[in-house]
Amino acid sequence: MSEAVVIDDAPQATPRVKVLLPMPVGNGYDYQVPDGLDLAPGDFVTVPLGPREVTGVVWPDPSDPSVPDAKLKAVVKRFDVPRLAPEMMSFVDWVAGYYMVSRGAVLRLVLRSSQGLEEVRARTGYRLADLPSGLRMTPQRAAVLGAASDQALTAKDLAERSGVTEGVVRGLADAGALSAMTFDPDPPFPAPQPDLPGRALAPSQDEAAGALRDLVLQGGGTMLLDGVTGSGKTEVYLEAVAAALRKDPSAQVLVLLPEIALTLPFLKRLEERFGAPPAHWHSDVSSAQRRRVWKRVLDGSCRLVVGARSALFLPWQNLSLVVVDEEHDAAYKQQDGILYHGRDMAVAMGARIGFPVVLASATPSLETVANVEAGRYGRVRLESRYGPAVLPDMAVLDMRKHAPPTNTWLAEPAAQAITETLKDGKQALLYLNRRGYAPVTICRRCGERMTAPDSDTWLVEHRYTGRLVCHQTGFSMPKPKICPHCGGEDTLAPCGPGVERVAEEARARWPDANVEVFSSDTVETPGAAKELLTRMASGEIDIMVATQAAAKGHNFPGLTLVVGVDADLGLAGGDLRAAERTYQVLSQVSGRAGRSVDAGRVILQSYQPDHRVNLALVSGDRDAFFGAELWSREEIGMPPFGRLAALILSGKDERKVTAEARALAQVIPQADGIEAWGPAPAPFYRLRGVFRQRFLVKATKRSNIQAFVADWLSSVKGTSAVRRVVDVDPYSFV
Ligand code: ADP
Repeated sequence: MSEAVVIDDAPQATPRVKVLLPMPVGNGYDYQVPDGLDLAPGDFVTVPLGPREVTGVVWPDPSDPSVPDAKLKAVVKRFDVPRLAPEMMSFVDWVAGYYMVSRGAVLRLVLRSSQGLEEVRARTGYRLADLPSGLRMTPQRAAVLGAASDQALTAKDLAERSGVTEGVVRGLADAGALSAMTFDPDPPFPAPQPDLPGRALAPSQDEAAGALRDLVLQGGGTMLLDGVTGSGKTEVYLEAVAAALRKDPSAQVLVLLPEIALTLPFLKRLEERFGAPPAHWHSDVSSAQRRRVWKRVLDGSCRLVVGARSALFLPWQNLSLVVVDEEHDAAYKQQDGILYHGRDMAVAMGARIGFPVVLASATPSLETVANVEAGRYGRVRLESRYGPAVLPDMAVLDMRKHAPPTNTWLAEPAAQAITETLKDGKQALLYLNRRGYAPVTICRRCGERMTAPDSDTWLVEHRYTGRLVCHQTGFSMPKPKICPHCGGEDTLAPCGPGVERVAEEARARWPDANVEVFSSDTVETPGAAKELLTRMASGEIDIMVATQAAAKGHNFPGLTLVVGVDADLGLAGGDLRAAERTYQVLSQVSGRAGRSVDAGRVILQSYQPDHRVNLALVSGDRDAFFGAELWSREEIGMPPFGRLAALILSGKDERKVTAEARALAQVIPQADGIEAWGPAPAPFYRLRGVFRQRFLVKATKRSNIQAFVADWLSSVKGTSAVRRVVDVDPYSFV
C-alpha cells in the first residue's frame, strides 16, 4: 500500500483522487483523500454522493483542478481487497469509447457482484462425525445424515436439503453425529490441475492442440479452431486451457459459452479434465455464488471460469486465455443496456491486454472468416468427426412437389423417414425455429390479426398455457373465445406452425412415440433443460420437436434423423446476416445427427431448394458459400468489410420522436467514407406504446464511425421525451 497518492502537478492543499462510479452518467468525480489513507488507482472505495454512499474505483485520471478544495467531499473508506488491475481499467475506458456509453456504465458491469468486496462473516456449518453408538434414529435424522458430508453446510442448508427443520440438525449435532465448525462462505476454488492426463487425442486433434499450445506459449494472437460438428473441438481447446494454466501459476482462464443450457454438462467435462470443478458465471447462478466467484477472481485464486459474455467484466487479475465456444452465435451480442458483443470484446481485450484468444466453431461467422483470410487470425481445422462417426447425409426436399395436406407440416418422404427411424429404435429431431403453437392468430370471420396492445407485434398462440403471447414485449393474455374485433364466437384460428403444433402432428401420426418439445418455453430453467437433454441423450424421447435452443453443442447418441421443418424460415426478412445465420443454424442442427456409430441423415423441407444456402448445405461446400457471401458483402461495403451503427430514437410521443428524427436527418454530417440512411420506422414501429425510428450509419473500416455519430448527435439537443440508443455493430434490425 505504499504507492503514491494520485495528485496533480499543480500544488493543492488537499490530496485528491478521481473516483469512477458505476453509474450511467458522469465521468468520475474528484474526492479528497483523508489523512492516513493511502490510495492508488484501482482501489475500491466508498464515497459520498448526495445523500448516499456509493462504491467506486479510484481511476488513473488526473483530477480536476477547477473544483475548489472546499467543494470536495472525502473518500469514506477503502476496501481491504486487491486493486482492480490497470489492464481492466484501461479496458473499461476502451469499451466505453467503442460502444459510445459512459465509463461509469461499463464500470457497472465490473461491479455487478461487488458484494464480494464486503467481508463476509464466517458461518457455522455441520459435517458428518463418527456415528455415536446408541443414536436414536428417526426418518428425519436419517435424511439429514444422508444429506451431510465432509463438507460443512449451514443448519439451514442441511435442513433444506433433507426436508426437515433446523431443530433436527441441531439435535444431531448435540448428539455428536454432526460436528460443528466455522467455515468461509466464499471459500477459494480448488486449483485446477493442468497436468492430469486429458483424453488420448486422434492425430488430427493432436496437431490442432499443438497449434493452440503454441499460441498460448507465444502469449498472444487470435486463432480460429474450425472443426466440423463432432470433431472434438472441446478436447482440443482444453489442451490450450491446460497449457495456459501450466505456463503461469497465477494465470486465469475464461471459457465463454453462448447458452446457459450448455453449461452444466460442460462443467462436468472440465471437472474431469482438471480434477476440480471450475467456477461458473451467468445470470442464473445465485447471487451468493456470484459473490464468491467475483471475490475469488479479484484475489486471483479463481483460475478457471466458464461463463456467459458478462464474465469478461469480472475483475480479472491475470487473464491469460479466453476461449469463445460457438463463436458465431448471435447470443454473444447483448441486446439491452450496453450493446456489446462478447466475442468481439474478448478479441479486443486479448489484443489490448496481450493474451491469446481461441474462437471455436463448426460454422464460423463471416467476420471471423474474413479476419482469417486477411491474416489477422490464425486457423486450425478439424475436418472429420472423432471416432467412427461420419457427417450426416443431407438432402433438400422440394416442398413444391411434396406439399403436405392443409394444416400439417411434414411432407410424406420426411414422415416416411421418421417412421423408419422409429422402427430402427432410433431418435428424430424436428427443427422449427418458432416457439408456441401458431405464430399468428386470425379471425376467420373478419380477418382481424391478433396483435399486442399498443404494439405492432403479433400474438403467438401457446396451447400448453392456453395464452396468446407477444415474444417482443412479453405481453400475454388468455386466448379469447370471442374475436375482440367482430365479436364472432370461436372464430379465432391459428395460422402456421410453431413447435407445439408440429408436436401435435407427430403425436397424431406416431401415437406410440414419446414426443417432447424443446424450446425456451418448455425449458425455462437450466435444470429443466438438463432434464430434457438427459432424457433425449438416454434415448427415452423418440421425437424431439425443437427450436434452435436444441441446435447447439449437444450430443444425442441415438439421434440419426434431423428434419428441418421449414428450412426457409430464416431467409425471409431484410436481415444482413439472414443467409449466414440460416446456414449456421441448419448446419448446427444437422450436426446433431449421427454423432455416434450410426450414420445420420438430414432432410431439409424447402420451397426454395435451389437457394445457395441449401445448395451449400447439401454439397457440404461451406467455403464456397462463405466465399460467395463474403463477395456479396464486400460489393456493398457491409460488415465484415465495412462498419455499421444503428441509431434508434424512441418515445411515447410519436410527434416528438418524428420531429427529432427529422431534425437529425437535416444535419447528417458530411464525412468521407461514411453514409447515414434514415429515418425509417423500425419494423416493430410501435412496441408497448413506444414509437421507434431508426437510422443506419455505414462506414468504411478505416473511418471513425463513433466520432461521426457523436458529432452528429451533438448537433441536435436531446430531450427527455426521446431516447437515443446507438447500437455499434448491430445484429438486430427490428
Ligand atoms: P464438437 O464440439 O467439435 O462438436 P465435441 O467436443 O462435443 O465435438 O466432441 C464430440 C464427441 O466426441 C464428444 O462426445 C466427445 O466426448 C467425443 N470425443 C472427441 N474427441 C475425443 C477423444 N480424443 N477421446 C474421446 N472422446 C472424444
